[in-house]
Amino acid sequence: MQVRSHLFYGRAVFSVALLTTFAVPAIYSYSALAMTPKEKSRANRLEALFSPGGGIESRIVEEIGAARKQIRVQMYIFTSKRIAEALCQAAKRGVSVEVILDKSQEKATYGPWRTMRRDGVNVYFDSDHETANSKIVLIDDRVVITGSYNFTKAAEEKNAENVLIVQDRSVFQAYRESFENHMAHARKAAG
Ligand SMILES: [Zn+2]
Repeated sequence: MQVRSHLFYGRAVFSVALLTTFAVPAIYSYSALAMTPKEKSRANRLEALFSPGGGIESRIVEEIGAARKQIRVQMYIFTSKRIAEALCQAAKRGVSVEVILDKSQEKATYGPWRTMRRDGVNVYFDSDHETANSKIVLIDDRVVITGSYNFTKAAEEKNAENVLIVQDRSVFQAYRESFENHMAHARKAAG
């Protein structure tokens, strides 16, 4: 009996793990049903990248460069000059760029948010959490970039990190809602 209930528990845990692991692909498959093959190839895509050595920063810069209307970023630690520069360039070519950072970044000795702000990026700080630890980039109505990756040199070159680039309407909508929830209590950078 003892063994049996232990087994059951093990299976339940395994099922939850499976659900978590495959939740995004499952949503992907579901929404793909209603589309033509052409729409599917254009609209649905999953791409997994890993650090170190996976070229995550380059892919993020590439996606930022492809933005036409809107970029929304929620980031915990942001010190990458290259990504900051890409966001500045986007703002300069007329793309609306919003960046929400954890409150700790406001007082950080080096923070490219000051330069970004000067170049037309709308910068906000989120003080409503112990740590505003989400790492999300939303581009137009098209792409979600998310994972463990902070915009730092360490995340690019040293750490074990992962990023998923998702093109899926349902996933995008969920992430957009989350972003907007944080934006509602975030405070615009002053100075
Ligand atoms: Zn928040």
